[in-house]
Amino acid sequence: MNMENVAIITGGGRGIGAATAQLFARKGYAVCINYKSRSAPAEALATAINGEGGRCIAVQADVSEEADVKRLFAAVEQELGTPNVLVNNAGILKPQMRLEDMTAERINGILTNNVTGYFLCCREAVKRMSSKHGGKGGTIVNVSSGAARTGSPNEYIDYAASKGAIDTLTKGLSLEVAAEGIRVNCVRPGLIYTDMHSDGGEPGRIERLKSKIPMQRGGQPEEVAEAIYWLASDKSSFSTGNFLDLAGGL
Ligand code: NAP
Repeated sequence: MNMENVAIITGGGRGIGAATAQLFARKGYAVCINYKSRSAPAEALATAINGEGGRCIAVQADVSEEADVKRLFAAVEQELGTPNVLVNNAGILKPQMRLEDMTAERINGILTNNVTGYFLCCREAVKRMSSKHGGKGGTIVNVSSGAARTGSPNEYIDYAASKGAIDTLTKGLSLEVAAEGIRVNCVRPGLIYTDMHSDGGEPGRIERLKSKIPMQRGGQPEEVAEAIYWLASDKSSFSTGNFLDLAGGL
């Protein structure tokens, strides 16, 4: 049993996840930073948070692997207490290409990572948070993308479709557990300055596209983190199954 708020941030070692972990720590949450492969930035962030008087652990786990997700939640329970916040944030994208050039391996890789990973983490969270299972409730925030609405033609329809699935997951699960003390909401970032765009093969993507953004600029990870925090905290206590677009009007 824990007396404090405990948040799991998947993919928390860099980008939006790292900004979110820092904000939750500043707000007094015990935080688990999950990462898949880059241990150095995740461990460094955990050390920094602990050095500032916070409570933070970094846990390696590939959230698309069932055994890893079970191990992740068990580690959090043992070291920090029962989680009452899950931020499903871990996502990947692959180099830009048209659909007719995509292999089954690539498509399955994107869907397994970006969709199965979110489902598995939701499952483990619901088992611990739901009043149906004796839990004390909690909140889940899924990080989707504006791509779920645009479809990302000529860039990565596979990635966009994985985010469409997250919107559907958010809607369905929010209704499934609404009477069990769990709220499930979603943020849909637009173009945010992180290293993810390098993984998509175009580090300067935001500079190319920012004139199409009504606010004429890309967003910062901290601006997304603030919305995630609001949706996860009691400040949004009557909100579930909702979507917050953070895209500068795009
Ligand atoms: P990022 O800088 O690439 O960070 C993503 C993190 O997710 C990485 O640190 C990575 O960990 C982790 N990760 C990926 N797959 C994982 C897995 N299977 N298990 C555990 N961790 C995993 O990306 P970001 O821009 O901050 O994106 C965060 C979320 O926002 C993603 O869901 C993304 O789709 C969404 N989003 C981003 C933008 C944008 O413009 N940046 C826009 C809309 C939505 P390792 O480093 O250890 O591999």
